[in-house]
Amino acid sequence: MSGLAAARALKATGHQAVIFEKNDHVGGRIAIRRIGGYVFDSGASDLVPRGHALEQVMLHELDTSDLIKIEKPLYMHASLRPIMPEGRGGPERYTYRSGNNRLPELLAADLDVRLNQQIETLEKLPSGSYKVLAEEYDAVILTPPIPQTATILWSVSESRPFANARYRPCLSIMLGFALQLKEVHYHALLDPEQRHPLMWLSLESVKSPNRAPEGHTAMVVQLSPSYSLANFAAPEERIIGDTLDYITWLYGKEWDKPEVSVVKRWKYSQPDSVALFDTVNEPGQKLIVSGDGVVAGRAENAYDSGLKAAGLLTGPAALEAAG
Ligand SMILES: Cc1cc2nc3c(=O)[nH]c(=O)nc-3n(C[C@H](O)[C@H](O)[C@H](O)COP(=O)(O)OP(=O)(O)OC[C@H]3O[C@@H](n4cnc5c(N)ncnc54)[C@H](O)[C@@H]3O)c2cc1C
Repeated sequence: MSGLAAARALKATGHQAVIFEKNDHVGGRIAIRRIGGYVFDSGASDLVPRGHALEQVMLHELDTSDLIKIEKPLYMHASLRPIMPEGRGGPERYTYRSGNNRLPELLAADLDVRLNQQIETLEKLPSGSYKVLAEEYDAVILTPPIPQTATILWSVSESRPFANARYRPCLSIMLGFALQLKEVHYHALLDPEQRHPLMWLSLESVKSPNRAPEGHTAMVVQLSPSYSLANFAAPEERIIGDTLDYITWLYGKEWDKPEVSVVKRWKYSQPDSVALFDTVNEPGQKLIVSGDGVVAGRAENAYDSGLKAAGLLTGPAALEAAG
């Protein structure tokens, strides 16, 4: 999101920007898995752009035909007891019917994106510009999670004050059941205290239509930071077994046999604490560090960081003029 925001802003101000992406798709931690007739958001689950630049982009600039407002609310849970949130009127939560990676795909549509290009090193040229994979660029914005960015910085003998940037790991479990869930009042459950191993449960097929075949149910469980850290390398069967204990506790013992069960291991899921963008980057620099690790976790913040990075290179006035 950060790289896409920066590239869009640079393009809007008349600059040429190239994105080097190590994967065969854009989106990073806004990721999906399609398995059989199921679609799971394995990374970012709910998009909450209100009050951020992403709001205008998502709701008014990009194609909205696949975008939906999530109707059912988010509930909290205490030891798996769902609790209705106090008060109403929380921020609108959005998702894309075909999966949340539709957002980065839409953002990337008119950009010069080079897929399957992992950047391991940079080279600083005497002119002050940078060589990236044999091509020369006036400036570079690094947007991977901070530990990965730090490694790339070392290749040009640079370091930045990153001590505060700490990410939590997250085991994300995708489950597909040939069962229909009885009426529930929520699309997701959250343990805000992160005391229970089941930190987040998204009922994907309640959140959005088209996420599971008719009469089936799709879920994504995100396990707590402490569970995820302790079990990061544990066998898949054990992690799925533990997860199913919580699901059967919630919905009944017939929910113990998913037809699809997959574990995605996120080493750097979201930052618990961040380094500050303005401390890490200084005006005049041509090597900028961006991404959620220098602002805050979540898609809308990562997007803001990309705009800020582009603003450092072009001047904020140029960005404002470009809308
Ligand atoms: C399980 C989980 C649940 C989440 N839930 C939510 C949620 O509900 N709502 C929400 O808003 N946010 C959520 N988030 C957080 C959100 O996904 C991130 O904050 C945001 O997407 C980060 O964007 P970014 O651009 O900073 O980094 P990333 O998304 O990590 O993007 C970095 C990109 O750089 C690429 N890359 C990395 N290293 C290299 C390299 N060496 N060379 C080339 N390319 C490289 C990566 O492949 C990736 O595409 C969640 C994240 C996770 C993991």
